[in-house]
Amino acid sequence: MNLHKRDADVFVPDGLDADAALARTTHLCIAAHQDDIEIMAYHGVAECFGRRDKWFSGVVVTNGAGSPRSGIYGNYNDAEMQKVRIIEQRKAAYVGEYACQIQLGFTSAQVKDRKETAVVESLSAVLRTARPEVVYLHNLADKHDTHIGTSLNAIKALRAVRGETQPRKVYGCEVWRDLDWLMDSDKQPLPVSARSNIAAALVGVFDSQVTGGKRYDLATAGRRLAHATYFASHGTDEESALNFAMDLTPLIAQPDLPIAEYVLGFVDRFREDVAKKLG
Ligand SMILES: [Zn+2]
Repeated sequence: MNLHKRDADVFVPDGLDADAALARTTHLCIAAHQDDIEIMAYHGVAECFGRRDKWFSGVVVTNGAGSPRSGIYGNYNDAEMQKVRIIEQRKAAYVGEYACQIQLGFTSAQVKDRKETAVVESLSAVLRTARPEVVYLHNLADKHDTHIGTSLNAIKALRAVRGETQPRKVYGCEVWRDLDWLMDSDKQPLPVSARSNIAAALVGVFDSQVTGGKRYDLATAGRRLAHATYFASHGTDEESALNFAMDLTPLIAQPDLPIAEYVLGFVDRFREDVAKKLG
């Protein structure tokens, strides 16, 4: 695999050779930052946990530069903080029994630069080896520019390798904007009730992020509980935790489909529903 950055970090919790470890992947998440995977793609982790026939792998595209720091991390410089974040991501991979955890180490500026080709090339290399059946990306209505940049690069890469490997499902997932607003017919509900202990640990290991007072651990669990409760107004909840996803599969299956037009279709259907109810 050519991952471009010399300091790209590849971690295999069970010690298998990196290419072989990645090749067993069935579920792959491509996310912008350390801890995004654990917030958005726990569905994939839970599907694969403890299985011999299904394997989850994670890709973090950026290097964690410019992370907020406080408490015991307060006097760390940016390079030291990047190391902390790489180690935290490795901890999550170990707890979640990932097949392989790759941290590509690009800057946010590179990810957001539409003319930069190195990110797409690295992701294409990962996809060619991993050949995932299911892919988790940031949803395309997320409010974080680096999340959108990451997903656009991932979609370019998925389209580029389409002749060699094509996932059967591509989900756009929740971090910085949830997907409760999608019409129920557009929602892809992802059950995430299984092993709440592991789900909690996965977000909990990112101590440097939680310690500054941002309780991502509680907020992530809270969002999943709220979705399960408010998804249907009748009957009892079958799941105690749900995530929602936007179906991005058509953007890969039909590589000429304009991305903005496709995503704004979800917004248009929401708008029409609000307008209809108000008469
Ligand atoms: Zn993020």
